[in-house]
Amino acid sequence: MPHLLVAVIVGLLTSQLALLLTTLYLHRAVAHRAVTMKAGLAFACRALVWLSTGIKPREWAAVHRRHHAYTDVLGDPHSPVLEGYWKVQLWNIGLYRKAAHDPETLRKYSKDIKVDAWDKRVFDRGLIGLMIGLGILVGALGWRAGLVAAGVHVASYLLVNAAINAIGHRWGKRPFPGIATNNQWLALLAWGEGLHSNHHAAPTSAKFAFEPHQLDHGWWVVCALRKLGWLQVRHDELHFTALAQQAFAKAPPPAREPELV
Ligand SMILES: [Zn+2]
Ligand SMILES: [Zn+2]
Repeated sequence: MPHLLVAVIVGLLTSQLALLLTTLYLHRAVAHRAVTMKAGLAFACRALVWLSTGIKPREWAAVHRRHHAYTDVLGDPHSPVLEGYWKVQLWNIGLYRKAAHDPETLRKYSKDIKVDAWDKRVFDRGLIGLMIGLGILVGALGWRAGLVAAGVHVASYLLVNAAINAIGHRWGKRPFPGIATNNQWLALLAWGEGLHSNHHAAPTSAKFAFEPHQLDHGWWVVCALRKLGWLQVRHDELHFTALAQQAFAKAPPPAREPELV
């Protein structure tokens, strides 16, 4: 197989691993507490997130929780309704960084996520994580192919994550009230995350597929890890928000809005 093709495949596989870590660890575990990982698994995910993305989990969780608190209204850090589709699709990283570096966002939305010695000494240095990650790719593939693999990974990871925020609030099916949409093709690229209308309707549920024809393979990984005893699922039944319950004619709205995290 040509060396360049191997580099592209390794880059795509790396971005798939990073997207899996993003949905399982950053999103379902840290941001929403929909799953609770055992310490060893959580640490492995944290280290791999550092190496493959350089993201600080408490920042990601804070930005994402703000998105749920102000979905597509003033205060949403990355809404295509407010910013326009192309800005979110192509400049999601800039919108993310602006919100992630806002002390008020961190204070309000991630105060439950404690900074420990590992953060202070290692994981808060995102650029070093990324450089070590790049070093691993270069060590395995050589300079040229390693740089190509890293470039493919970064481009794929950024574009797919941006698509969840941009396309996932612009085009697709809307089974629940709100602007978020379901796109099965995007869910296939992002371990279930494309079922975004479902997720906004039941944010604390670890499962994003609600219908038999919907596919959330991130949930399959959750089930496999649960079978191994490495994580617990907060609740197997779907906990819908008050707004989502309006979609069910017979279901009375709950007395209060369930918590988002
Ligand atoms: Zn959303
Ligand atoms: Zn969420």
